Amino acid sequence: MKELQTIKSGKNFTATNLGSIDEVINYELPMGKDFTLKGKVFLGQALGTTGSELSFQTLVPGQDSGFLHTHKTHEEIYVIIRGKGEYQVDGETFPVEEGSVIRVAPDGRRALKNTGTQNLTMLCIQYKANSFGENDSPMTDGVILNDKLTW
Ligand code: ZN
Repeated sequence: MKELQTIKSGKNFTATNLGSIDEVINYELPMGKDFTLKGKVFLGQALGTTGSELSFQTLVPGQDSGFLHTHKTHEEIYVIIRGKGEYQVDGETFPVEEGSVIRVAPDGRRALKNTGTQNLTMLCIQYKANSFGENDSPMTDGVILNDKLTW
């Protein structure tokens, strides 16, 4: 089973290495006493995230999520990193492929299927829906410092 490698951490950061996208299939997620989901890894705990969770998952050709799901309070963004498939929300399906990015509100009944001939890998980022207010623009929240940038 593959494991995340911590690169470095400090007072204000944690860096981890997932490995190559081809190796996401080698992660295993314990789901219960007798079931392990292959090809999925959550990074939130390893990174110490405080307002989001994120996971990578690889589906082999023909494989789907296995179930529809919703969330109580979390919105999700799915980024298709590799492969081709179909995404489904509330019974509506549409094709997705490398580069597709899908936002799903908590109540959306969602699933993903690999309909291609290669592995499909996605990144899913989840966070509390409606947690940003009107003043949460990335342009106003970011603070550009006057410090000289050195490496
Ligand atoms: Zn979810």
